[in-house]
Amino acid sequence: MADPRDPRPLIGEPLSLDLLNTRWSATNPQDLLAAPGGYGIWLSSAGLADRCPDDADGLAAVLAAREALAGLVRAAEEQREPEPTALNEVLAHGRIRHTLTATGPAEAVEVDSPAWLAAWLAADDYLGLLRQGPHRIKACAHETCILHFFDTSQNGRRRWCSMAVCGNRAKAARHYEKVTR
Ligand SMILES: [Zn+2]
Repeated sequence: MADPRDPRPLIGEPLSLDLLNTRWSATNPQDLLAAPGGYGIWLSSAGLADRCPDDADGLAAVLAAREALAGLVRAAEEQREPEPTALNEVLAHGRIRHTLTATGPAEAVEVDSPAWLAAWLAADDYLGLLRQGPHRIKACAHETCILHFFDTSQNGRRRWCSMAVCGNRAKAARHYEKVTR
C-alpha cells in the first residue's frame, strides 16, 4: 500500500515503472528521489522499506537503475535499438539462487550488498515486463505528462496514466476546442 506521504500522482505500477514514475510533470518537473526523505517514502510505497536500507548508497544505486530504465523506455518509444549496458551493470549486482527446500523448490534474490537490492529488483522487474509484453509498457498519452504504466487492460488500449487526471484533462481540452471553434 502506498505511503500516505507519497506525493506522486501515479503509484502502484510494476516496480520498474514505479521507479520511473518518481519523476512527473513536464511543465513543473518533480522528482521524489531528489526531495529530502523522498527515497525512504519511495521504498515504503514500494513495500521495500524493511528489506532495503534508506541510505545514500541505496539511493545512488536506485538512481543508476532509474537512468538505465529511462534510457531503455525512451529508446523503445523512439523505436531505436535499446542500449542495455547500463541495465546490465545494475543486474550484475544480483542474481536469483534456486534451491530445493523441504517444502519444494525455492528461489531467493542475492545481491552484492543490501544497497543494491531495490535497484536490482527494479531492473529485474523490467525484464519481467519485457517477457510479458513490451508493447504494454506505455507512456501516458497526455502531452504534459511523463508517467508510464503497464497496460494490463484486456484490449490493450489504455492511454492515460489515470482517467481521473489525464483522461479527463484531455477530454476537457477537446470539449473546449469544440465549443470555441
Ligand atoms: Zn498522465
